[in-house]
Amino acid sequence: MKIQPSLYNAYHICKREAWLMYHQITGDQMNEFMYIGRLLSEDSFQRKKHEIMLADLPAKVDMIETRNGELMIAEIKKSSKRYENGKLQLKYYLYLLHQKGYKIKGEIKIPKEKKREIIELNDEDIAFIEKSLIEIERLVREEVPPAPKRIRDCPKCAHYEFCFS
Ligand code: SF4
Repeated sequence: MKIQPSLYNAYHICKREAWLMYHQITGDQMNEFMYIGRLLSEDSFQRKKHEIMLADLPAKVDMIETRNGELMIAEIKKSSKRYENGKLQLKYYLYLLHQKGYKIKGEIKIPKEKKREIIELNDEDIAFIEKSLIEIERLVREEVPPAPKRIRDCPKCAHYEFCFS
């Protein structure tokens, strides 16, 4: 099973959201916060992301650049709030490329905080990602989604009404 980056990211934010996404239960389309990837990129409305294919899967990245002759994928975040999610997302991109034989570095930038970090995929990351992929496959094969559990993102989620009314 090929796990799309959007599903991988959703899984690490809310497992119920990941299940609903996989089963194409789209939630309240009128929700004012409804954006593709609304849970995944808090500032996606400010920038147009580049849509690319990574290992035959669609991905949205902020920047692809060449530095010192090396290709690099960069994610730009508005604040540290979603830093860890951004890192997970970027590592999954690097993993997909690694599976295709490319060794590419990533970078996360938070311009407002003058923060940047070079991200490289290591064996521990690969083990974590592969464990997550097995868990995601198991999750989406469940007949019903996990019960709703309130998290910080719930009020912005298109499934809010579906989950809590
Ligand atoms: S409203 Fe909350 S619990 Fe429900 S899918 Fe969205 S993030 Fe998950």
